[in-house]
Amino acid sequence: MNEFFDTISVNMKPATGLAHVSESQETFELHRVLPPALKPLEAISANFYWSWNPDGTQLFRDLDPTLWDICEQNPRLLLKKINKLRLWQRAADTEYVERLKRFDAKFNEYLAAKQHEASSPRIAYFCAEYGVHNSLPNYSGGLGILAGDHLKSASDLNLPLTAVGLLYRYGYFRQRIAHDGWQEETYNDIFESELAVSPVYDSNGERVTISVHIRGREVVAQAWLARIGRIPLYFLDTNVEQNSDVDRLITGHLYGGDTETRIVQEKILGIGGVRLLDKLGVAPDVYHLNEGHAAFSTLELAREFLKANPEANFADAVENVRPRCVFTTHTPVAAGNDMFAPASLTACFSEKFITSLKLTTDEFLALGRSDLSNNEEYFGMTPLAIRMCRSANGVSAKHGEVSRGLWLKMFPDLADADAVPITSVTNGVHAPTWIAPLFQSLYQKHVGTDWNEMVRDSDAWAAFIYRLSDAEIWDAHMTLKSLLISFIRERTRAKETGLLNTINEHEDTRRLFSPELLTIGFARRVAAYKRWDLLFTDLDRLLKMVDDADRPVQFVFAGKAHPQDRTAKTILQELMSINHESNWQNRAVFLPDYDQEVAKYLVQGVDVWMNVPRRPMEASGTSGMKAAMNGALNCSILDGWWIEGYNGENGFAIGDLEADLSDEEMDAADAEALYSTLENELIPAYYSHDERGIPAEWVRRMRNSLATLTSQFSSDRMVTDYLSNIYTD
Ligand SMILES: *Cc1c(COP(=O)(O)O)cnc(C)c1O
Repeated sequence: MNEFFDTISVNMKPATGLAHVSESQETFELHRVLPPALKPLEAISANFYWSWNPDGTQLFRDLDPTLWDICEQNPRLLLKKINKLRLWQRAADTEYVERLKRFDAKFNEYLAAKQHEASSPRIAYFCAEYGVHNSLPNYSGGLGILAGDHLKSASDLNLPLTAVGLLYRYGYFRQRIAHDGWQEETYNDIFESELAVSPVYDSNGERVTISVHIRGREVVAQAWLARIGRIPLYFLDTNVEQNSDVDRLITGHLYGGDTETRIVQEKILGIGGVRLLDKLGVAPDVYHLNEGHAAFSTLELAREFLKANPEANFADAVENVRPRCVFTTHTPVAAGNDMFAPASLTACFSEKFITSLKLTTDEFLALGRSDLSNNEEYFGMTPLAIRMCRSANGVSAKHGEVSRGLWLKMFPDLADADAVPITSVTNGVHAPTWIAPLFQSLYQKHVGTDWNEMVRDSDAWAAFIYRLSDAEIWDAHMTLKSLLISFIRERTRAKETGLLNTINEHEDTRRLFSPELLTIGFARRVAAYKRWDLLFTDLDRLLKMVDDADRPVQFVFAGKAHPQDRTAKTILQELMSINHESNWQNRAVFLPDYDQEVAKYLVQGVDVWMNVPRRPMEASGTSGMKAAMNGALNCSILDGWWIEGYNGENGFAIGDLEADLSDEEMDAADAEALYSTLENELIPAYYSHDERGIPAEWVRRMRNSLATLTSQFSSDRMVTDYLSNIYTD
């Protein structure tokens, strides 16, 4: 174990239930002693609450702005590295110390608020990834960010929720683009840096561990705790001395391994997760399996039931487990669901485990089949979850419908897909995390500090947005756009550029981008269905827009390709190598290493957020919601959340809702619709400034977007929906 952790001692009171987190008395020692006036920074840095409070973030940045960026916004690392003189200067700065005191008081008040236990069941939330903040590299993309936002809203709404995940030692990959435009991956060893997680000890001072039987051995996993405001997020980690080298790497990489590693990870998460909660004394009323990765947890609950009720059979166990479990599916295609070969599964689950469920191996394997008559079918985590949970839901209305069609085959008695018991809860994003501090302070100035509570009341929120002046909205947006442009120039500056002169590296970035120009953002995973190449269908037509003398357009791109997806990497390389005799080189950039930090600059600074997936592949999409909350206009295919969000005035819709076309015909039709929307609607609206220098028609749409989409797509609304429609029976 890394020496950093050795210097931390955390005395947690024995866990006695969900309330223990706010009661825990811990001593959290850094490598160094902070001046007494700065002491509160230790506890503040140990809870991610600061990360969704601009005044909290500002406290760390103001310690040393340059170092803050070098440390990639990681407070624990900053506090370790910052030079002593600097610390003592801040400690002597009365304005700073006052601010720190105020934030510390607010933080403690937040933690101390009483939970309304009676009004909510106790919830356990399981997910394979969590995107809470960049300084906790535990996510790859949308699923993780959604889970992080879910926890933050559960915290703000003060729900009794405990989360469980895996601590990946190497996290997800960091992206680099080589001179030839090819994506390269690197992994950081998180144990060399400092994380805001603490080891969990029991009342005897022993490290809390669980074990799971894997490949003939007992694999041990130790528990860590991250604090997400009022919500405890526990991680399991197999990197312990008792384990073999291979087993220590089970929780090595997020989505990096082969199928077998994947099953084993999912065993640790699902089965180990249930065991961990038992050990901690957490007794959930509801287990929420966010995506199928954690579906093995239902088998562990069944095993526990059968152990306590030796005369019962598996059907009895299902009757006991189903009412306690709910499941959310996140993908609209069968291939996107985890599937394991029967042999891989039986290699990972012992006879003993299967027998303890009172099942034969065939019956066990059938739990993961969608078609019970097909003995060859792979074991799917989604069929397992649908069978073992009392409720299943998709993540937008459309995705609910698509999922009902996809899983109809599991219900041969049902006449049509409408009757399939899969509902939907549309995703949302955490407003205080994603709305730019500048807009937050504008809101705060007008409504007081509780602007986020007003977001929960959609009518009051809309009325408030209509009281802001055009100039207030436009000026805030233009300031944010300038910040984005500085960020772009900084991120793309390179000492030496490569042969291709790619759009992710520039020697001279001064001429790159202009705040006056219409700026379109496109950032998402590089995958075929996201259609990165749609924009380039007719390059001449695109470049005509980019080069236009009076009304030019500029583009900013970002996104990672899966390390094993060569097709996706080729798409990226092609984008990188468009090297045209035009303004393209100065008006298009690719920002490497798309993560939460890059996402924030993008969604807060662009004029337009573009999304052109092939219907109906976008289960929900959440980045467009983040952009909408910052006044950017969505220009998107009517799919996922946008079907629900678009009202004709608050952005732009590309293509029709339904069409009976082949993929090729659909791509051509959508490309045409995209170009003509840009040329005929979007560009003219953006460039018609009135006598005040404000594009009034544009601001009218921005206002409509801010007013109609913020409440509807906030994760507070989402978690409230889960509470009333899913968690509460
Ligand atoms: C929001 C977000 C996503 C998910 O956005 P989509 O619209 O689903 O593509 C992915 N990655 C990062 C870094 C994000 O912030």
